Amino acid sequence: MRRKEHRHCLRGRAFWGTLLVSVLMVVTGTFGLSGCSQGGASSTLQPYALPYDQKALEPFISQKTFEFHYGKHYQGYVDKTNELLRGSSLAQLPLEEIMKQTATSPDKVALFNNAAQAWNHEFFWKSLKPGGAKPGGELLKKIQASFGSLDSLKRLLLDASLAQFGSGWAWLVLEGDTLKVVKTGNADNPLLHGQVPLLTIDVWEHAYYLDYQNRRGDYVKAIIDNLLNWDFAAANLPKS
Ligand code: FE
Repeated sequence: MRRKEHRHCLRGRAFWGTLLVSVLMVVTGTFGLSGCSQGGASSTLQPYALPYDQKALEPFISQKTFEFHYGKHYQGYVDKTNELLRGSSLAQLPLEEIMKQTATSPDKVALFNNAAQAWNHEFFWKSLKPGGAKPGGELLKKIQASFGSLDSLKRLLLDASLAQFGSGWAWLVLEGDTLKVVKTGNADNPLLHGQVPLLTIDVWEHAYYLDYQNRRGDYVKAIIDNLLNWDFAAANLPKS
């Protein structure tokens, strides 16, 4: 996720020049100095810029569903995270670090939920690819070693998606040297459990209800069979 740097905290010659002008303007009553947020220059998280069109995943995910999902739900998590970070020393950290540092803080539940949902959704957008992709190379070897076959892995992903009670996520992860399929509830994330996420499927109702109503299995199967970006999964394998 990109950050948009705010320019009100300046450094070096630009700082002193601006300070001189600012002091003169304050003395003359033109305006008051605005301070920097705690922890230095503030920055704003920007939503992930999609590499594909929002109708490119049709007919499996409709443009209408995608626009609501990306433009309302995801944007809402990004906006709320920025709002909760305002003035916080955590604001300078990468989103992943914010998620990790707030995961067990009882007074940071809202920040964790929104930051983790922003992270999970960016990972989900990257887990999708119009036309899909086939696993190969080292990833396919690991799939065969861990699950026996790609079809077995696909079955486990579907089962995990259906077994997740309520909102959550199904994931392909690397744990140690073994691939696993896991599910997490609400905003939870495998990074918080010592696992490396490779792919994810959003199984919150907002991800599919407009297109599939209560048929979560049909939605998940459509993604597994047609949209999973196995190139992204392969790129997430740690380099040996
Ligand atoms: Fe979602």
